[in-house]
Amino acid sequence: MGWFDKHCEKCGINVDKNIAPRRFGKYFCSDEHAETYAKEVEEMRKNMPQQKSSGGCC
Ligand SMILES: [Zn+2]
Repeated sequence: MGWFDKHCEKCGINVDKNIAPRRFGKYFCSDEHAETYAKEVEEMRKNMPQQKSSGGCC
């Protein structure tokens, strides 16, 4: 027990952390899911409102 202590971040199945692809410190069952997740994160970051510290008035 305990060899599969990691799960695919995308679909949740058990993965072998020794061979599983990784993105952002997460494990995935396949390169495909890793890529999909990476793209989702990218999109999410794009859609996030930019926090600008504008220095007030002119
Ligand atoms: Zn998966």
